[in-house]
Amino acid sequence: MTTNAADQALRARALKVVPGGMYGHEATTLLPASYPQFFERGEGAYIWDVDGNRYLDFMCAYGPNLLGYNDRRVNDIAVAQLAKGDTLTGPSAHFVDLAEALVGMVSHADWAMFCKNGTDATTMAMTTARAQTGKRRILVADGAYHGAAPWCTPMPAGIVPEERAFISKYQYNDVASLETAVAEAGDDLAAIFASPFKHDAFIDQALPDPAYARRARELCDETGAMLIVDDVRAGFRLIRDCSWELVGVRPDMSCWGKSFANGHPISALLGNDRCREGASHIYVTGSFWFAAVPMAAGVETLRILRESDYLENSIRLGTMWREGLDALAAKHGFALRQTGPVQMPQILFDNDPDYRVGFAWGEAMLKRGVYVHPWHNMFFCAAMTEADIQFALIAADDAFAAVKSQLASIEPHPVVLMFLTALAGAH
Ligand code: PMP
Repeated sequence: MTTNAADQALRARALKVVPGGMYGHEATTLLPASYPQFFERGEGAYIWDVDGNRYLDFMCAYGPNLLGYNDRRVNDIAVAQLAKGDTLTGPSAHFVDLAEALVGMVSHADWAMFCKNGTDATTMAMTTARAQTGKRRILVADGAYHGAAPWCTPMPAGIVPEERAFISKYQYNDVASLETAVAEAGDDLAAIFASPFKHDAFIDQALPDPAYARRARELCDETGAMLIVDDVRAGFRLIRDCSWELVGVRPDMSCWGKSFANGHPISALLGNDRCREGASHIYVTGSFWFAAVPMAAGVETLRILRESDYLENSIRLGTMWREGLDALAAKHGFALRQTGPVQMPQILFDNDPDYRVGFAWGEAMLKRGVYVHPWHNMFFCAAMTEADIQFALIAADDAFAAVKSQLASIEPHPVVLMFLTALAGAH
C-alpha cells in the first residue's frame, strides 16, 4: 500500500518557508498530483521518495544520472577526495586532468573552463562569443532551452526586455529562417546557439537536419560569428564526443553539464582556438567552481564512459523500450508519438492536446513503480538492465489498460490548462 504522507507533510512545511514551496524544473507543479516532490535516495536505476516508494527512474534527475545513482566507482573517488579537501584556495590537480580528459574526448575542443550549472556554461559561451568577436547579437532557436538566466529563461517574470535586446530567434532545422536571422543581424552577429537536437518540452523531438547544421557552420565562417552547441542535456548520451560530430559539424564552443561527473555538481564550456583569446579575457568565476570533489568524480566518470559500453547498451535498451511500448499501445488502442533518440525518449499520446491521457498514463505508471514524464524528454542510465525494461513494459501494459477503462472520465490538469493558454497567448 503506497502512501505519500511524508511528502505531503514536507510540501506543507515548504510552502511556509520557500516561495511557492518549490521552484524550477524539478517542481511538480506541472505534473500529475500523485507525483512525489521529495526523494530520499537513489541507487542504480531506482529512486525512493520520502515515503519509501521505489521507482524505476526514467528521468535520471533530468539528466545528471548517467552511470546509475550512487555509482561506487565514482563515489569512492569523490569520498576519498572529500576527506582530503573540496573547496580550497585554488583548484586541485584534477582541474587539469579533467580539462585534458574533455579536450581529449571532444574533437572540436582545444580548451576547457569549468563552472557549476548548465546556465553558467551557456552564459559563459555567450560572453566569450561577444568578447571574441566584439559583436553583440546572439541567435537562438525558438523554444530551445539554454538555462534560467535573464537572457534565456522561458518564464518572463522579473525579466526586462533590455536584458534580451540582442537575442534573436530562428526556427530549428529551418535554413531559410536561420539565413534571415543572420541577415537581420547585419555586421553585429556574435554567435549562433544550437541544441544538438530539438528537445523542447511539450512537443515532439526532432533530430538535426545535417543541411541546417552545415549551414549554421558556414554562416559563422562567413560572418566571423561563433557556433555554439548546447550539449548540457544530451552530452555523452549520443556519442562520446560533441553531439554534432554525428552530423559532421564542429562548433567553436560546446556547453556541458548535468552528467559528465555522474551527478556531482560541475559544468563546462569547451572551445576551440578561434575563441581562446576571448575566453581568456572574460571575468567568470564562482566560490564553488573549483571544488576538487566534482572534478575527481568527473575524471573517473569520463574514464568509465571511454572504457565501457554504456552508450551501446542504452541504445539497445532504448530500442527495446520504444518497440515494446509501441506494441502495447497498439494492443490497447492508443497511438504514441515516440520521438528523439531512443536513449532520450519523448513519449506523447496522439490526439491528446491537453495532455490528459499522458498524465493519466504517467500516474498509472507511477502507481506501478515506474517514474515517466508526461511532457519532458526522458533519459536512460547505464545501470538499467533488460529486466528493468521488462518490468517497465509489464507496468505499461497494465497502465494502458487502466487508462483505457477510465478514458471517458479523465479531467485535464488545471495548471497545465493555464500554462497552455498562456503559451498560446505568447505565440
Ligand atoms: N541547456 C540545456 C539544453 C538544458 O537542458 C539545461 C538544463 N535543463 C540547461 C542548459 C541549464 O542547465 P542548468 O539547469 O544546470 O543550469
